[in-house]
Amino acid sequence: MSEKKSNGGDFRYAVGESKVPWHAVGEFYDGRDAVEMVKFLLPDNGDPSYAQNVKNMEDAVRTLAESSGRATKLTLGKMVSEAEEVSKGYFNSKYACFLDNWTGGMEIAYKLAGIGPGDEIIMPAVTFIATMAYPLSMGAKIVFADIDPETINIDPADVERKITPKTKMIVPVHLGGYPVDMDPIMALAEKYDLIVMEDAAHGMGGAYKGRKLGAIGHFGGFSLHEVKNINSLGEGGVLLSNEDWAGPQFPGARFLGLDFTRKIKDWLYDISPLTDRFGKPQVALNHSATEIQALGLLLQMKRLDEIIAIRRKAAEYMNSVLSQESGILVEKADTPDTYGTHHLYLLRIDPEIVGGDIQQLSKKLAEKGLTNITHFGPMYRFKIMKDLGYDEEAIAATCPNTEKMFYYSYTHLPLYPLTQEQLEYQAKAVVEAVREMKAGK
Ligand SMILES: *Cc1c(COP(=O)(O)O)cnc(C)c1O
Repeated sequence: MSEKKSNGGDFRYAVGESKVPWHAVGEFYDGRDAVEMVKFLLPDNGDPSYAQNVKNMEDAVRTLAESSGRATKLTLGKMVSEAEEVSKGYFNSKYACFLDNWTGGMEIAYKLAGIGPGDEIIMPAVTFIATMAYPLSMGAKIVFADIDPETINIDPADVERKITPKTKMIVPVHLGGYPVDMDPIMALAEKYDLIVMEDAAHGMGGAYKGRKLGAIGHFGGFSLHEVKNINSLGEGGVLLSNEDWAGPQFPGARFLGLDFTRKIKDWLYDISPLTDRFGKPQVALNHSATEIQALGLLLQMKRLDEIIAIRRKAAEYMNSVLSQESGILVEKADTPDTYGTHHLYLLRIDPEIVGGDIQQLSKKLAEKGLTNITHFGPMYRFKIMKDLGYDEEAIAATCPNTEKMFYYSYTHLPLYPLTQEQLEYQAKAVVEAVREMKAGK
């Protein structure tokens, strides 16, 4: 068999004409593997014609493999660069970095922002553990801001109350895809010389005052984990910045201080640290993403606007049905300033009118066959915080809306990919459950 042509190698091994080349990829994928990959993405669902169709596909892929080259670059290559170029354009961001997951992207932003032990970082009391994982892991102090009862997003007024001389960053989270009111947050950052990082894990494609979420703060970014609105074959993240002191360091920050977008003379030895905001060195870990993940992102990004539009319609449907019933507080609609991504449907109730709290309602919804996921809870109540010496009750006393809302008032429902039938059932079940509660059943 003749040597398969390459689709672009790796400069580290492109040393010119050689009878004994170094390949970037140790073991190539071949036609048999490609067949298995197609079967993985398009599995048997019991359709009687599946076996025959797989056979046809196998024959076609084998024939294709005889006339094809091979993928000779599997990580940090052209696809990753293209995913970054597309991201820069779509989000209107000067710098973009595609990586293995968004937790890794946030780690890089925290490092470049120069976060150290004892520094304080203000974030909403309600978000996912990933938002605080890096600062918590290295001994920074998490300061929890209370939430806005209408959107359950971070409350900018409470952020200002919690700023101290040790505060270094504010981390707003566009929870469920509803845009945080960013202007007051950015104004606080300016006034107190703080860095803002937007956790837009739920907010990819959303906007605030005409700017894309994730591209408003000094840093921002998205998760492409499989549960998010779009994904990159299960895992992935995009980190954005418009800052010239930070963005050019992204490639090195992603891979152990090595910037493969530049020619490096001795890549095994030529390692420099990152330089943080205060000019101090920081050591990079490895958050590389693969070419196939980048391809996964590029494919789904083409559908992002369409997916958000479907989710918006589903949310509007939920609002139209639920607004008929007193005691149910429907999700805040977009204003001329906001364009949400409807990652989750925020269901809130007025416990007085309904005659019971959200815990009781969730139980009823589960009995009616609605998926009962544990809803986003106050992070200061997590066991890990107690183990790390945080005073749960003292923090709770500074977050009254979080306490009230979490225990009595809100939960999240899914919007997509539900069928119209499932969506209608979901809306009807909520109304029924609320009526039962009102009737004391
Ligand atoms: C999913 C999620 C993350 C973490 O993203 P990964 O890509 O899984 O690391 C961070 N913040 C929020 C709010 C999330 O929902």
